[in-house]
Amino acid sequence: MSQENILEVRGLKKYFEAGRPSLFSRNVPQVHAVDGVNLDLRKSEVIALVGESGCGKSTLSLLLMGLEDPTEGRITFEGRDITHLTDTQRKGLRRKIQMVFQDPYESLNPTQTIEEIVAEPLYVHKLDVSKNIVDEKVKKAMEDAGLKPAEVYLKRHPHELSGGQRQRVVIASALVLEPEIILADEPVSMLDVSIRAEIINLLAELRITRQIAVIFITHDLGSVGFFADRVAVMYLGRIVEIGTMLDVLEKPQHPYTKALLSVIPVPNPRLRHERIILQGETPNPINLPTGCRFHPRCPVAIPACKASDPALMQISKTQQAACILLVK
Ligand code: SF4
Repeated sequence: MSQENILEVRGLKKYFEAGRPSLFSRNVPQVHAVDGVNLDLRKSEVIALVGESGCGKSTLSLLLMGLEDPTEGRITFEGRDITHLTDTQRKGLRRKIQMVFQDPYESLNPTQTIEEIVAEPLYVHKLDVSKNIVDEKVKKAMEDAGLKPAEVYLKRHPHELSGGQRQRVVIASALVLEPEIILADEPVSMLDVSIRAEIINLLAELRITRQIAVIFITHDLGSVGFFADRVAVMYLGRIVEIGTMLDVLEKPQHPYTKALLSVIPVPNPRLRHERIILQGETPNPINLPTGCRFHPRCPVAIPACKASDPALMQISKTQQAACILLVK
């Protein structure tokens, strides 16, 4: 494992059984939700994981959290193989890798006070700390999450807070365990546009003040531009392009990335460019297309794309000319 990497993912796959064998085949149909993902995350790095719904980005985050068992592949955290752990080992790890979910309305218990919600992870993880230390950690986590002064919010209930404040409570209950990594799954998609930038700025601050690495999962490439170090673009269970934020936003290589970028609204009409509207639906992840799995929708596909899969590095010279791939 590289000294720099806090997390390494190699050849990660997750297939779900979908139905029963047919009369003509004994094979059980499988959804290829995550299908051979490689990813490195460095300390206090922010990676934006971008793709349409159903591309496998949320399943990938569940695998990283240990909430799903991989079908194949390896996950290493701080040099330790964490692919298959017992429940007890997994519990220790969850302190280090925390998740922030999309919906702050659903993820908070309405009967608890904010103080109880933020303190709960400390009790769940049976951290042997006194009440004074719990109080101190709760206040620090709340204030680092932007709920300042903490005393104003401690005795309130979730329904007394705005959407943005609730998402800050969710982030505070992740921070209270002092994690190394936060997996933020569409953390701003349920919030008003005016609040989104505040939550994104907060995550950007935490990577500096607490040295936390963030995997920011989103379907909206436009929302990550200014704060991610690197952008990884997923399509049908695979990362099809990864690079620095500037490289991906300014010099996208993959036709899918180009299409995603082309539909981001641009306020200045002079800077508007041609929109690339992809034809058809995302293919069924049970019956994946042959060759490059993007070929049924790719605006620059050539016949060879039906046979050669660039992710397996079998791409031909003519195919390379059509599509300047690929993963760095
Ligand atoms: Fe498009 Fe072919 Fe490149 Fe796939 S390999 S992205 S189908 S040009």
